[in-house]
Amino acid sequence: MPSSLKTNSKPLPDPNNQDEGAWTDSAIFGLGSLVGTGFLDNPALDARSSGKDESRLRLAASVFANAHDGIMITDATGCILDINRAYARISGYSPDEIIGRMPNFLKSDLHPLEFYEEIWRGLKKHGQWRGEIWNRRKNGHLCQELMSISAVLNGFGELTHYVAIYTDITELKESQLKLEHLAYHDALTGLPNRVLLGDRIQQAIASVKRRNGLLAICFLDLDDFKPINDTYGHQSGDRLLIEVTKRLKDSVRETDTVARIGGDEFALLLCELESPQEASDILTRLQQRVALPYKFDHISATISASIGYTLLPGDDTDPDSLLRHADQAMYIAKHEGRNRLHLFDVEQDLRIRHKRENLTRIKKALVDREFRLYYQPKVDMRHGKVVGMEALIRWQHPELGLLMPADFLLVLGDHPLLMEIGEWAIHEALTQIAEWRKGGLKLRVSVNISGSHLLHPDFISRLAAHLAAFPQLNPRYLELEILESSALGDVHHVSQVISKCREMGVDFSLDDFGTGYSSLLHLKRLPAKTLKIDQTFIHDMLDTPEGADAIAGILNLASAFKRKVVAEGVEFIEQGIVLLRLNCDVVQGYAIARPMPAAELPNWVAKFQPDPAWQASLRLPWRRSDFPLLAAEVEQRRWLKIVSMAVERGDRAALSNSVSNLRESSFGHWLYGIGTERYGSLPELHEIPKLHLNAHRVSAEIAVHLARGNTGQAFELLVEHRSRIRELLEGLLALRAAIVDLSRKPRPVGDPSLNSTFG
Ligand code: C2E
Ligand code: MG
Ligand code: MG
Repeated sequence: MPSSLKTNSKPLPDPNNQDEGAWTDSAIFGLGSLVGTGFLDNPALDARSSGKDESRLRLAASVFANAHDGIMITDATGCILDINRAYARISGYSPDEIIGRMPNFLKSDLHPLEFYEEIWRGLKKHGQWRGEIWNRRKNGHLCQELMSISAVLNGFGELTHYVAIYTDITELKESQLKLEHLAYHDALTGLPNRVLLGDRIQQAIASVKRRNGLLAICFLDLDDFKPINDTYGHQSGDRLLIEVTKRLKDSVRETDTVARIGGDEFALLLCELESPQEASDILTRLQQRVALPYKFDHISATISASIGYTLLPGDDTDPDSLLRHADQAMYIAKHEGRNRLHLFDVEQDLRIRHKRENLTRIKKALVDREFRLYYQPKVDMRHGKVVGMEALIRWQHPELGLLMPADFLLVLGDHPLLMEIGEWAIHEALTQIAEWRKGGLKLRVSVNISGSHLLHPDFISRLAAHLAAFPQLNPRYLELEILESSALGDVHHVSQVISKCREMGVDFSLDDFGTGYSSLLHLKRLPAKTLKIDQTFIHDMLDTPEGADAIAGILNLASAFKRKVVAEGVEFIEQGIVLLRLNCDVVQGYAIARPMPAAELPNWVAKFQPDPAWQASLRLPWRRSDFPLLAAEVEQRRWLKIVSMAVERGDRAALSNSVSNLRESSFGHWLYGIGTERYGSLPELHEIPKLHLNAHRVSAEIAVHLARGNTGQAFELLVEHRSRIRELLEGLLALRAAIVDLSRKPRPVGDPSLNSTFG
């Protein structure tokens, strides 16, 4: 019976709907009619009962008396009429103490009024109610019961009794709770375990989001706990862990969580923080506390803790990842020397993840054969010949199109994948050389090799295996360009590798020479046949007088060490002229050809014609002091590019370093100085300032339009700008030709300036 049933509450089950759950008296075998007669308590049945009725009553009485569950019968008002032995055992009350009372004296005070109202509603509506209820035993202890009450109706559908059956589930519930506690807590310290921690993190995340708060998820690992376990035994180790637990709990607030997630690993949730600094302060204090000496069982020990943590918001992810991030940060703290605190770096993690994804993708690209080699010719300007090709990797990405090395090689760093790619490139290049040879084209191909690849212990044997796969091919058709040669560690070892490869017939170039820290020692000790002057030198060589001097310096070095030279990144014919003048004959760059697919190469080689300007300059080499004239042409073409790009992007700022004042430019200095002095007699020279002014007036106008946001007008002027620059370039070219002409003519009498002009 619900313990607080009121006597005036009269449930009235629907007599027509007995199926809903109300018992009829016949349905309980006349149990109700026996109530209060003492019959139920007396298995020796009344002699007057006989026949079928008698056996049913006997059965009912036996069920009542012997049931393991407690049974209580009340009248229609709820007044207790009888209880069985089991109920007496459960409640602690004898029938005498209970019969005639209303059941509400049994109530536990644990349920609100609504709970009992709900039971009544159930009884009224369905004639029964079933559920869990807390009652109080006679000894005052609480008792949890599974109760099912049914209303009993007579043959006319009138309510006569209630029968309640009770199962004592107190112990069951307690052991269930114990099991649950075990499932969610650590047995040694009683702290929440990993499972409960996951739950708590989830709740904490929800709360942070609701309140715009700040949460720290921390991972703590004791430093050198194992030696303590080993020295003093596991029991002492356990004592220490319990002591650490106490200190941890004392260092945080009630609302925070301390959990144990492994042998000497703990996790902490610091909730409702004011600032990241607060998290660091709390954890520092906690670390200091853990580091204080421990004294127990005549043992005195000290221990420290490495802590990693992550903050939310900031690290907005799921509970598992948060804990993993804190763990990663802890790992760094440990690595940095223990007893440290380290905050997880979200951005760095993103970068690392990105890198990992990239690596996986690159690996797949290698398997799926998405890499290609493009070939860029190297030509000898003096002899007008193609002397070789550089193989440059490209990635034909199915979604992103053709990718350049900078888009994917940098990600690799020193990863072994870079070596795999290098191996692929060597094999691919050899295949291609063999292919070209079949078509009658004999071309030397250089393949770029990273320093780490070269230093791999298997490098030589693998190279030998590659060459062996092409027995018909002379190995001298393969060359290797060593990248970052300045960063190569053991020069002696590298030089041995290079020597061994050279014995096999494969030569080397030192790529990007002059960048980084290329020591003379490298140049002296590394037996590479060729130096490739880095393109930055070529790019800058006409900008200042020092530009050409730097190249001249490298060329002198190369000559002193008897190395060949290739200049790469030659974008303008004039650069080639200057290089020839400096005695650098072999060049590679956009001025000659851009890297191209293997299939296009034979045709390109067949059609190759050296630029006539090179031959002309060989006959009449330019004076170094006249280089500014060559520089001016390069400069104007670059200027045209800059202006076009600025207009396309609507970007005024790109035009800010315009040299509109001719006199201030280095070409202007030449023009009004040495130029006029030497070639003042040439009308072509006097055309230049006008042409220059025309071109730069238009670009100044474009700059004004861009500044005002008139991109349309800037676009229109671009056409005119191109024409003016073209006129200027033609003017410069005409001047150049006139100077060459002048040099061919007999020296005019009294013009000492031409004394040593050419030759
Ligand atoms: P690198 O070996 O110095 O190659 C020369 C780079 O300059 C190439 O860039 C080439 O396309 C570019 N270039 C050639 N002429 C000009 C020019 O006139 N102007 C300008 N601005 N650039 C020019 P790419 O193909 O993007 O390669 C870049 C770098 O990637 C290479 O520099 C090399 O260090 C590396 N690389 C290329 N292929 C491989 C490879 O198969 N394996 C390895 N490990 N690295 C490679
Ligand atoms: Mg190279
Ligand atoms: Mg290079």
